[in-house]
This record gives sequence, structure tokens and C-alpha cells, in this order.
Amino acid sequence: MPEERSLNFLEEIIEEHLKNGTYKSIVTRFPPEPNGYLHIGHASSICLNFGLTKKYPGYTNLRFDDTNPETEETEYVESIREDVRWLGFEWKHERYASDYFGTLYEYALKLVDKGLAYVDDSTSEEMASMKGTPTQPGMNSPYRNRTIEENRDLFVRMRNGEFPDGSRTLRAKIDMAHPNMLMRDPVLYRIKQAHHHRTGDKWCIYPMYDMAHGQSDSIEQVTHSICTMEFVPHRELYDWLIEKLEIYPSHQYEFARRNINYTVTSKRKLLQLVNEKHVTGWDDPRMPTISGLRRRGYTPESIREFCKKIGVAKRENLVDVGLLEFCVREHLNKIALRRMVVFDPLKVVITNYDKKEEMVISENNPEDISAGSREIPFSGELYIEREDFMENPPKKYFRLAPGQMVRLKSAYIIRCDEVIKDSAGRITELHCTCIPGSKSGLDTSGVHVKGTLHWVSVKHAITAEVRLYDRLFRVEDPADEADDFKNYLNPYSLQIINKVYAEPALKTTTTNQRYQFIRKGYFMMDKDSHSGNTVFNRIVGLKDSWKPQT
Ligand code: ATP
Ligand code: MG
Repeated sequence: MPEERSLNFLEEIIEEHLKNGTYKSIVTRFPPEPNGYLHIGHASSICLNFGLTKKYPGYTNLRFDDTNPETEETEYVESIREDVRWLGFEWKHERYASDYFGTLYEYALKLVDKGLAYVDDSTSEEMASMKGTPTQPGMNSPYRNRTIEENRDLFVRMRNGEFPDGSRTLRAKIDMAHPNMLMRDPVLYRIKQAHHHRTGDKWCIYPMYDMAHGQSDSIEQVTHSICTMEFVPHRELYDWLIEKLEIYPSHQYEFARRNINYTVTSKRKLLQLVNEKHVTGWDDPRMPTISGLRRRGYTPESIREFCKKIGVAKRENLVDVGLLEFCVREHLNKIALRRMVVFDPLKVVITNYDKKEEMVISENNPEDISAGSREIPFSGELYIEREDFMENPPKKYFRLAPGQMVRLKSAYIIRCDEVIKDSAGRITELHCTCIPGSKSGLDTSGVHVKGTLHWVSVKHAITAEVRLYDRLFRVEDPADEADDFKNYLNPYSLQIINKVYAEPALKTTTTNQRYQFIRKGYFMMDKDSHSGNTVFNRIVGLKDSWKPQT
């Protein structure tokens, strides 16, 4: 049966536009402000904007919305580029709102000349007090009726650096009684003697979001300018400015923000976690940033699949992080190489094993025959997981117990004959016998067991460090709590196991290779690894706890 796929509301609009000839091809843009690293919420916006121009004729620009000189840095620009590419997308043009500062200034002069903008000497407090409320009209500024000549003169002098920060602004002259508060003479330009990451000290006035965003869209002839719902009230001003400036009519469309639970998705909050050292950096594997997910071992395919599954909507909701984990697990199951690693070793001595050692063969990935198989050394001294043995097991315990048998993965069936303890009563080793003829694949023993354990040969094991991650926060929506979101950090979000025992095939681990440590989860090597110590991050556990909501 063909998969039924309905269009999202933006696809519907675009198909209509292409059908009725409004556009022959479309232009979208992804417009991050370079004031932090991108997070999983941004991934939705990236997949949406770039996805539309993969599906329909047209292209997508990457535009840095860099109108805020104080918070922006080149480091962020570079990380954003890397993240978008890593997610699998390529932009047509790389643009910066700051590229347009000259044009935007001309636009502002045009508004002044049309009598549609004025220079206001009110302080921000005075302006706020005259703004009115949603139910009460605001008051006109005493500076509202300056002549065009006076406004032009003052605005040019603002630009020339004659006035201190905050002393004057340029405002649109619209309507102080407008039902939309954003239309009550919004500020278009402010004075800021600040160094800009690209324009340096060239400018001391900077356009506000509304005076930059729509105009940048227009300059780039963006047909569908997609943003999140909080910009709905801005649309009226977006349209007003385009109309009055008589420039290319871009149109704004809004969709709901996508956030996931047990974390925060706001660059400002993530920056606090970094600055206050609650995490090791923007790419800490617990962070919901693209760089954190990448370092942890998430694949771009799984993130794109996640964005596709949550889709595009008009209503905001918190998405279960379990869905993201589900998506990565599905992908990793297909591509991860299987390896055996023992985290908490218990020694098993096979008393009747007369060979010194031998090789057993195991598939690299039962889901993918092309991944081939590998040889694993087997010997008379092995490690199994301490938790895979119980001295007094309950009924239906299929792992190892005195007198009980289990299969060692890809090797033999063994039976536990004797439990050896130290003087403190702690179990130090198990003495077992190997069932003759039970070698995996060649089994003629006729013995059937229910449990299969992973193991490593003591002599051949290599050691590594493993980092296990849990949710960064212990509540679903930390940003929604009454007090500081940082009070809700999960103190157990990182567990380090300094020394685990791995089969020798893991000696040649490469960057980006994903593994399934059998019965333990999915792992990838971390960048903290060095020749003396390989570090593995757990990407996600094996168990799927996520259930679709009904
Ligand atoms: P933050 O609060 O994290 O800084 P932002 O919206 O200010 O987010 P921008 O850099 O302005 O971040 O975002 C670039 C684009 O990504 C915008 O179009 C924005 O609407 C979109 N975006 C940001 N966060 C999300 C989210 N959680 N879900 C979907 N889209 C998002
Ligand atoms: Mg922002």
C-alpha cells in the first residue's frame, strides 16, 4: 500500500502558489541570530525551510540575523554553518543582515522623507509610559510632529555619532491608538556605540528586528518567510514597512515552535548553563544543541526523521524526548556494529576448557549482512557482567546461577558449578564447565537454554571509559517552573565508568563509527579519547520506552 502523506499547511500554500502562478519557484531562508549554538528546535526550522526547497523548485538562503552587536560572535556563525551542513543541507547564498545596513539606512531615510518616521528624544521609560495598554490607546510623543527636514537632520546626525546611546530613536509614525501594540509607533533604529562582529565600528545606529528582518527578506526576494508563532503580531508591521517602502513583497508565515521535554531550548538559557559550568560546553553530550547531539553520537538522519515525525503545526506543544530517542535507536539499529563490552566484570573460569584459546565468529550486525562478521578470541578465563549472575535466583531467571546454564554469545553453553568468594563473602569468581559440542553455529549438544550473555576474554580484553547520560533536567519543562530553571538540573545526568572491558575489535575505533554494545545500548567514541584512554558516549539505551500518545 502506498504511504499516505498529507501536505502540511505550508506545502498546501506553496502548491497553490505554484499552481496559480503566483510564483514559478520559491525562496526561503533560515535566519538564525548568531548569539549561540543551534538546538533541536532550530533543527525543525532548518528541516522545514530547506526541506521545502528540496521538494519544490527554488532555494534557501542562510541568513545571519546579526543586528544585535553586543551578543553576536564569529564563533557562533561558524558553528551554525557547521550544524546546518551536518544536518545535510546546503544553502544557496550566505547572507548577513549586516550586509544590508547601508540599504536599511536608505530605507529609513525614505520613511523619514515620506513623513512616515520621526526622531524621538524620549527615554525608553517615557516611551513605555506613553505606549498605553491593549485596551487603552497610547499618547503621542511630544516629538511626533517634527518636520521632515528636522527628522532628516537629526537622523543623519544619529548616524554620524553625534548623540550618546539611548538619547534618541527613530520611530515609525503609524498610530498610537492602534489595536496592535506593535503598530504604536514602533522603534526602528537605536543608537549603540558598539563594535559589530562584521561591520566593526562603522555603525553606531542599529536597526531593530522589525526594521531589518522583513527588509532583508525583501532584498533577497524571499517568497515564503517562515518564522515561529510569537511573530504573528509582527506580521502587520512587516507588511506595513514593505508597503510603505515599496519594495519586493515577501510574506511571513508562522508555525509553532518545537521544543522537547526535560531540557531547555533557548540559546540564552543554554548560554547560562555553559557560562556557569553546569555543562562542559555547548557541545556537552547532554545538551540539546545540534553540536551536543552530534558529539553524543546522534545521526543527522535520525534528527531529520524526528523533525519529519513531529511535523509542522500551528499549535505549540512539548514533544517527548522519547520520540527523538526512538528515531535515533531505529537508525542505529540498522547501522551500528555489534560489540561486546563488560561494564562490571565477574570472572568466569571454565574448568574443562582444554584449549588455550580459539576464535569464535560473530556477526557485526544481524540487521545488515553486508556489515560482515568478526573473530572474537575465546579462552578459559572470561568476564561476564556481575549483574548477570545470581546466587539465589527467583523462578524464571534465565541468566547464570549455581547449577544453571546459559549461552555465551557466539560461543559455548556453560554451566555454573561453583561460586568462589573472598573472606568478606564477596563473589570473586565462578567456576563453570563448557558443554561439549555446544559451540554456536555448530551446536550438536541438544541442550537448550534461554539466556544469552555477553562476555570478553580476560586476557584479550582492552579497557575503555564509558559515559552514560541521563536527562539534563529532572522536570519536564524547567523553563516553565516558577523559580530558576537551573534549580531543576538532574544531578545524575552523567555517570562515568572509568574502566570497562571490551573485545579487542574495539581497539581500532574510528570517529563517527556507531556501535551497539550488546545488551548495553548504542555508543560512539568521544573526542576526549586519546591514545591511552578511549572514551565512549552512550548515545541511547536499547530499550524503547516511548509510546505514541493516543
Ligand atoms: P532562541 O530563543 O533559542 O534564541 P530564537 O528564535 O531567538 O531562539 P533564532 O536564532 O532567532 O532563535 O532562530 C532562527 C530561526 O529558528 C527562527 O526562524 C526561529 O523562529 C526558529 N526557531 C528557533 N527556535 C525554534 C524552535 N524551538 N522550534 C522551531 N523553530 C525555532
Ligand atoms: Mg532570537
